[in-house]
Amino acid sequence: MPRRLLVVAPHPDDETIGAHTLMARMRRRGVAVRVVVVTDGAASHPYSVRWPRRRLVAERRRESRRVLRQIGVTASAVTFLDLPDGRLVTQAATARRGLARAVAGRGAALVVAPSHSDDHPDHRVVAACVAMLRQPGLRTLSYPVWPAGQKIAGARHLFLTTQERLAKRRALLTYRTQTGRIADDPQGFAMTRRQIAAFTSAQETFAERRR
Ligand SMILES: [Zn+2]
Repeated sequence: MPRRLLVVAPHPDDETIGAHTLMARMRRRGVAVRVVVVTDGAASHPYSVRWPRRRLVAERRRESRRVLRQIGVTASAVTFLDLPDGRLVTQAATARRGLARAVAGRGAALVVAPSHSDDHPDHRVVAACVAMLRQPGLRTLSYPVWPAGQKIAGARHLFLTTQERLAKRRALLTYRTQTGRIADDPQGFAMTRRQIAAFTSAQETFAERRR
């Protein structure tokens, strides 16, 4: 059991997709859990009139905070780096510094972050930044997001109880901006039912990171 867990989310919702149950279990056991959300999430609905950038960014933050508070991760343990969603590659150095600050001087820790092979470019930038963290005793695991429902050879699985699975589904649906609430942007993102089902399957998957 690590003394500290840091969950790195490229966008506000990845923390829940990747590690909701891991975070909940660790909080129950008294482990300090921190979350760093790297981008502002503004790219999910670029053309919504009712949800202009500032409103969308603020709401996405609230969604993450609300879900995390429910599992004992308070707002003070959640950092938003506010980097540009969809264009993180242009701010990779800033992301790297932000993540280095999050692990610096806090003792041995487990870091979970997206995978190098994720389909989303922001996720791959985050994976590369995490791979560059140098801290004695640091252990890193990756979690899959895109494509939803993929199988990872050689990964470890955390198996969810029915109750944990229901809690995770409720948590995921709390991200209403990502699950269909915003209807006035034809290019807007909404998780499909199939994706929601894949993201709330009976297990969370973590792979040892390739360095
Ligand atoms: Zn993401």
